[in-house]
Amino acid sequence: MAKYILEPSRTFAEFLLLPNLTTRNCSPANVDLTTPLVKFKTGEKPSLALGIPFCSAAMQSVSGVKMAVALAGFGGIAFIFCSQTIQDQTAMVTEAKKHNVTVGAAVNTHDYKDRIPPLVKAGADVLCIDSSDGFSEWQYDVIKFVRETYGDRVKIGAGNIVDKEGFNYLANAGADFIKVGVGGGSICITREQKGIGRGQASALIEVVEARAEYLKKTDVYIPICSDGGIVFDNHAIIALAMGADFLMMGRSFARFEESPSKLVTQNGKQYKEYWGEGSARAQNWQRYGKEGDGKKLVFEEGVDSYIEYAGPLAEGFAQTISKVKATMCNCGSLTLATFTRGARLTLVSKASITEGGAHNVIVKAIK
Ligand code: IMP
Repeated sequence: MAKYILEPSRTFAEFLLLPNLTTRNCSPANVDLTTPLVKFKTGEKPSLALGIPFCSAAMQSVSGVKMAVALAGFGGIAFIFCSQTIQDQTAMVTEAKKHNVTVGAAVNTHDYKDRIPPLVKAGADVLCIDSSDGFSEWQYDVIKFVRETYGDRVKIGAGNIVDKEGFNYLANAGADFIKVGVGGGSICITREQKGIGRGQASALIEVVEARAEYLKKTDVYIPICSDGGIVFDNHAIIALAMGADFLMMGRSFARFEESPSKLVTQNGKQYKEYWGEGSARAQNWQRYGKEGDGKKLVFEEGVDSYIEYAGPLAEGFAQTISKVKATMCNCGSLTLATFTRGARLTLVSKASITEGGAHNVIVKAIK
């Protein structure tokens, strides 16, 4: 008989933070957004950390060399997409490393034995298995390959999963970080096409719990990356409060000048193209809906779309960082670890969401 979770699957938009006491030293200038990128033992420091809790999605329309350089300028990291030839991806990593920035590279579960060695040689700082379903023996095999070939020298994240079972499987396989989220991406139609996935907040809440249990048992802290479904900055803040160590975003970064996609003008307005890795446009290659030789796309799990252009990353993204810091101060926290430890979150009703926006006024402009 099937098992049921009769609680609805929740999203970030259904939660709000309550303020905690803001002490006098709580000013944005004192906030430290450093966050671990790979697992570490209690009492030790992670061998890789980020200066901000953000990374850009391993997607053709998001993470190229320009994005890697721009995001690294903020302390973040881009995962260069693997839905391209090994040579092209390696060339991108090499190019990014010329600016001496930290750079990530995505790998898939098909050609990893050929793809990983040149990426490591090119200087990729961290790898990530890019898949919509990480609860699989193929991911286990990729991690095993990395450990057998490189020991702990090469770091590799795995995912995506949405529950304790998925987290524990990848943790035991040896993943350096674990990515959460199935079906929540803005270009994603996985849930509609296949009836599989989970509300991103519900998934994250359960996985953060699983991580705490794993830490208690093993003294090993595994960073969690919440992937997909961040539309507004307040969603990012809620995800961090819930215990994500860093967030992977596609749409939010694709909007900026530095993404590799085309800028188009329609009716006097500027847009960027943004397409899913599971859309027909992104492939032939990888993960979604493939059969047989792994090359034929049987059905799509992503759409091809337009999003509003947001100018250079330096300006738009600085606002996001400012909001994260400001909220942390409202909650009396100067670090992400204390932010999540002290976070108090409440579910919101439909009526309170209406109350939360500007209402019963004629709005002139919002910055
Ligand atoms: P966004 O930030 O909401 O735009 O979501 C980006 C995330 O969606 C990526 O990091 C992937 O995990 C996921 N994704 C990318 N392409 C596809 C697709 O074609 N179908 C489903 N999910 C996708």
